[in-house]
Parts: sequence; structure tokens; C-alpha cells
Amino acid sequence: MIKSHEGVWESCLKLIKDNISLQAFKTWFEPIVPIKLENNILTIQVPSHFFYEWLEEHYIQLLRKVVKKEIGNDGSLEYSIVMENNSNSSSPYTVKIPTNNTSSLKNAPVNMPINTNEKQIRNPFIIPGLKKVNIESNLIASHTFENFVEGECNRLARASGYAVANKPGGTAFNPLLIYGGVGLGKTHLAHSIGIEIKDNFPNKTVLYVQSEKFAHQFIDAIKNNTTNDFVHFYQMVDVLIIDDVQFFTGKERTQDVFFSIFNHLHQNGKQIVLTSDKAPVEMQGMEQRLLSRFKWGLSADLGTPDLETRIAILEKKMYGSGIELPNDVVEYLAYSINTNIREIEGALNTLLAQASLNKKAITLELAKQMVDKFVRSTAREVSIEYIQKVVCDYFDLPIEMLKSKTRKREVVQARQISMYFSKKMTKSSLANIGAHCGGKDHATVLHACRTVVNLSETDKQFRNYLEELEKKLTIH
Ligand code: ADP
Ligand code: MG
Repeated sequence: MIKSHEGVWESCLKLIKDNISLQAFKTWFEPIVPIKLENNILTIQVPSHFFYEWLEEHYIQLLRKVVKKEIGNDGSLEYSIVMENNSNSSSPYTVKIPTNNTSSLKNAPVNMPINTNEKQIRNPFIIPGLKKVNIESNLIASHTFENFVEGECNRLARASGYAVANKPGGTAFNPLLIYGGVGLGKTHLAHSIGIEIKDNFPNKTVLYVQSEKFAHQFIDAIKNNTTNDFVHFYQMVDVLIIDDVQFFTGKERTQDVFFSIFNHLHQNGKQIVLTSDKAPVEMQGMEQRLLSRFKWGLSADLGTPDLETRIAILEKKMYGSGIELPNDVVEYLAYSINTNIREIEGALNTLLAQASLNKKAITLELAKQMVDKFVRSTAREVSIEYIQKVVCDYFDLPIEMLKSKTRKREVVQARQISMYFSKKMTKSSLANIGAHCGGKDHATVLHACRTVVNLSETDKQFRNYLEELEKKLTIH
């Protein structure tokens, strides 16, 4: 008797349905289309590589059993995976799964399709009566691209965020993972993407959520027995932005539920944006399958802003608050606070508050006091850059000269003095100081420090320079 592939699959489905939840059945088995049955190989078409992996991870035993039961001991299963929309090849590619193998996942092709063909999958999760438009986006209006100053440190992340915002779900950057240290602009950029999408596509549902909040909601859902609603809710959005996903590390159940939401959204061509304070490789305690999904899209890092970017950010913030600061104050802040942008912003705000409370003019003096009192102690230390700037201003030399290799006498002297103060006033290593001063090695820096000390003992004029400079560099 010749069995048809439809008939066999139909029988398989009956068995499967009896063994798993209705929701799982609808999600993972209804969208499957039987293609053919030849030489005891049943070929089924799945909408995407996700699907195939998911089936392999969760239902392989079950599938193996039912295929065996329906086709016999030498029956096997082959997946035909629908290629992404924008792929050149229109034919599906296949993965063969002998049913007696333990798992074939290791052999899965590394080349994963990124976008699935939306038409392939029906969404089983439409909840009648719950309108998409009712979802509050939780976006902070001021965190726009416009207000996000571009610099070398954020160029890639910003550009990819912008690309995503103009074609959510339609670029290779899905998920887009933005990572970087504290206060470098991850949250701001994540909001920018959301805001831009809402501007460009008013009908799309954008949802921003902090991972901590997501985790708490999930715990509540477990308590109240409403995990289905929780999952359905998140599966309805078009753009899901989850901030600080590193918070999920070590939280297995949260990762599980996030994993299934992630898969559903990705499969349906929805955009996912994630931020993290760590690169994927450094997220210990995050399940491998999640990490591997993070890598499907693009990971872009945010670095520490360079001096120019710090000044540009300060100017932007000043402009935004309608207040003008003297140039030397702006420069001082930008030079002395090089840790992160939140700190720069904090210093600026404190300075403005101090000035208005005490009805004082904003002067360099006030800025120095304020930085000393209020800014985190690590940022309080003067930076090599600031020392160089003060020294160059004092001797009326362009700072580039100091960093160049020139052997002109007055430049050499300024350079040595900068090294001397950098050694004295910062915690930087000799090598690091040298690197900032025209690529000198640590021995050169040491020699410079000795020369300065010797000269100050013998040359009164030189000692004067040092004293004046020290005053300028010392806070207060
Ligand atoms: P993170 O989430 O990485 O800790 P945030 O996004 O909260 O950092 O940024 C800290 C502060 O710095 C925010 O107020 C943000 O608006 C500001 N900020 C960060 N990057 C920029 C930038 N490139 N231009 C302007 N402001 C920025
Ligand atoms: Mg943040």
C-alpha cells in the first residue's frame, strides 16, 4: 500500500497533538507543510531555520517516535526550510534528519536565514478584543537621534540603529544588540530607534521595556497563572526593545520565556533591539541558544567618547537647556570628566544648580570646586589630556606639537613638564603617559621627570613656571 505524504503527516499530527499542549501544537506544528514521502523519507516544510532548530531542540524525540510509528523503522525525516525573502536562491534548502540519530543540530548549516517569509506562518496568538494600538511604548521623548551626538565612539551603533529604524525587521541587523559600559548611551540609542520607528511607521507597535521589569512581570505572571497572557502580549508587538539584557543572566526561566518570545517575533519578521553592558561573549550565565541568537543580527558597541565628542555633547546639552557657559568651563568639564556621558551630564546639571542656588556666575573656579565635590572620585583626578592642555595654553603652543615627535626646544620642555605633572597628578603608568606624549616609552618619561626636577632645583624661572602651572592644575 502506498501512503501519501499528506496522509502520513496527518496521522503524525494526531499523535503529536495528543502529546503536547494545544498552544505548542498550534505554534510549532500547524505551520508545517508536508512536501513528499519518498524512500521512506518524509519531507516537511518549516518556515525558517528557527523553526527547525526549535523542533530539533524540543520535539525531536516525539518526532522520531511518530515517524517510526507511521513509516516504520527505516523511516526518516527531512526538513525543507523556507529561505528568507531577500535571498537570491528561491529554492528551499533541506536538512536531513535520520530518526535514529541522537541529534543533528551539530551538523546544522551555519548560514542561517535571517528573515522568514511572513506569509508562511499564521499567527495563532491574536487575542480578540486586545487592540495593538493600546500598547504604551514607554519611550522617553527627548532620547531622539537628533539629541544623540555622533562621534567615533558610537558611529557603528548609531548607524545600525538608524538603519533598523528605517526598516524594522527588514535588515540583517535583527536582533540589533547595542553593548557598552555604563552611561555611554545604550538606553538613549535604544529609545532613539523606537522613536524613529514610531515616526516613520505610525502603525507599528513599539515596546520598550527594561529587562528587570520584564523579569518581574514574568514572575508576577507565574504567580497569577497568566504566563500565557504575558507571552501573548509580548508576541503582539512589532518592535521589541529590551534594555540591559545582561540582567537575564543566571535567570533560567526568564531566559526560556524570552527565548520563545524572541523566536516568535523574529520568525514573523519583527524587529528586536537589545542592549547590554557586556559583549555577548562575556555574558556568563546566559544560555547558549540565546547567545547564538544574539549573534544572528549585529552587535555594535559604544565606546568612551573622545574629547571632541565630549565637548560636542556638552554644547548640545547647554544649547538644549538654553544656558551658556564660558568656554574654559566647557573645556574643563570635557577634559576632566572622561569616564562617561552620564557623569558629564551630572556635572553640568550640578554646576547649573549650584550657580543658580548661590546666585553665582559660572566660572572656572566654581566648576573646579564642583567637580571636586560632586563628581565621583575616580573622575576627580586630572587627566593627562587636561594637563597637556593647560601646559600648552601656558606656553602658547598647539597641543598637536606636544603629541608630535618634534625636538624643538620649547616643545620638548612643554612635553617634559606635561609628563612630569602627569606622573605626579595622575595614576597613569609611565608607558601610558609616554603614549599620550608623542609615543615615548616609559624610560623617556622617567628621564623627563628627572630633568624637570633637576631644572627646578637650579633654574628659578623654570621653578616659577612649575609653580604657576601647578596652581592652574590643582583643583580649588
Ligand atoms: P547607558 O544606558 O549606556 O548607561 P544612557 O543611554 O542612559 O547610558 O546615557 C546616559 C546619559 O548620557 C543620558 O542622559 C543620555 O542622554 C546621554 N548620552 C549618552 N550618549 C549620548 C550622545 N552620544 N549624545 C548625547 N547624549 C548622550
Ligand atoms: Mg541604560
